[in-house]
Amino acid sequence: MSDASQPAPLATLAGLAHALRAEHDLESLLQLAVDFGARLLGTERVSVRLLGEGDALLVTCRHGEPMHGGSGARFRRGEGLVGHVAASGETLCCHDAERHPAFVARPDQVSPLGSFLGVPLFDQDGVIGVLAAVAAEQERFGAAEVDALELVSALCSPRIAVARLERIARVDALTSVLNRRGLRQTLREHEGAGAAMSVVLVDIDHFKKVNDRFGHQVGDEVLVQVAAALERCLRGGDSVARYGGEEFLLTLPHVGAATAVAVAERARAAVEGLWPRAGETAIQITISAGVAERAPGEASEATIRRADRALYAAKNGGRNCVEVAAPGPAPPSRDTTKR
Ligand code: GH3
Ligand code: MG
Ligand code: MG
Repeated sequence: MSDASQPAPLATLAGLAHALRAEHDLESLLQLAVDFGARLLGTERVSVRLLGEGDALLVTCRHGEPMHGGSGARFRRGEGLVGHVAASGETLCCHDAERHPAFVARPDQVSPLGSFLGVPLFDQDGVIGVLAAVAAEQERFGAAEVDALELVSALCSPRIAVARLERIARVDALTSVLNRRGLRQTLREHEGAGAAMSVVLVDIDHFKKVNDRFGHQVGDEVLVQVAAALERCLRGGDSVARYGGEEFLLTLPHVGAATAVAVAERARAAVEGLWPRAGETAIQITISAGVAERAPGEASEATIRRADRALYAAKNGGRNCVEVAAPGPAPPSRDTTKR
C-alpha cells in the first residue's frame, strides 16, 4: 500500500471529495465512484449498479472491462452477489467468489471470478445501488479494501442519491426512457435554443393483440425491448420519451424532415427485426411512425400534433410504415405598421 508511486489512500479520498463537488450529473458522479474505487483498491474492474423504482435497474457504470459479455449482466435484488448486497444492505467480501451460495454462473462471464467485494450505496430509506470490485485471483480483497470501498460509498452516496431522485422523476419506470415530465424539460431546452428540430411519433401496431394473446407481462417486456431498440437508433443529443402507453416520441435536434424520415425508417426496420419471445413463440412486432419538422417559431406541442396526424396517416396506410407531415404553418407575419 505504501508504494511511493501511489498516492496515499487519504490523499485519494480527499481527491474524490474534491472531485465530487464539481459534478452534478448522475453518470459523472457514478464514474467518479468507480474510478476512485479502482484507484484506491489498485484493481481493474469496479462497477456500480443503481436501482430505480422497485427493483428496476436505473443505470450501470464501470471502470475496466465488464465481467459479462454484451452490456453486462442484468441485476435484480436478491439475485447473484450484487443482488445479495442490494437485498441485505451489508458489505460482502468473498475470497472465493464462485463458491459463495449467492453466486450465479452466467454463460457470458468473460473471466473467472476469484474475489468479489460489494458495498451498498444508500439514502435515508435504504439501499439505492451497489458498488462492486471484482478480480480473477482469489483472496484479493481484505479489511483495508473493505474500509476503502465503504468510504467511497459513504462519500458518494449522498450526492448520488440526490441525482438519482432527479433522474427517477424524469424517466419512465418500465422502459427507462424519458417520461412526459422529462420530455417537457427536453423540449423546453430545444425551444430555448431555437435551432431546427424534428420529432417522430411512434406507435406500436396492434399492441392490444399482444396483450390479449400473451398477457400483460409479455406486453410490458415488448415495450422495454421496443424502447431499447429506438434508443439504439439515435445519436447523442437525440432522445426517446414514452409519450403514452405504447407510444414513443423521438426528439431529434438540428435535424430536418428528410433526415428524421431516415431515422424513423431505421427505427421501423429495427423493431421489425426484434422478434421478442413469449416462451417458445417469437412475436412479430411492428411500429408506425409520423414525422414532423418544427416550423420556425412553432410551439413543440403543435409540431407533435402534426406528427400525430402523420402517424394517423401511417396507420391508415397499412401500418409498419413512416409518413411525414406537411410543412408547418408559416410564422405569424409581423405587421410593423400597427403598434
Ligand atoms: P393500432 O395499430 O391501431 O395502434 O392498435 P393498438 O392495438 O396498438 O392500439 P390501441 O390504442 O387500441 O391499444 C393500445 C394498447 O396498449 C391497449 C393497452 O392495453 C396497451 N397498453 C398501454 N400501456 C401499456 C403498458 O404499460 N403495458 C402493457 N402491457 N400494455 C399497455
Ligand atoms: Mg396508441
Ligand atoms: Mg398501437
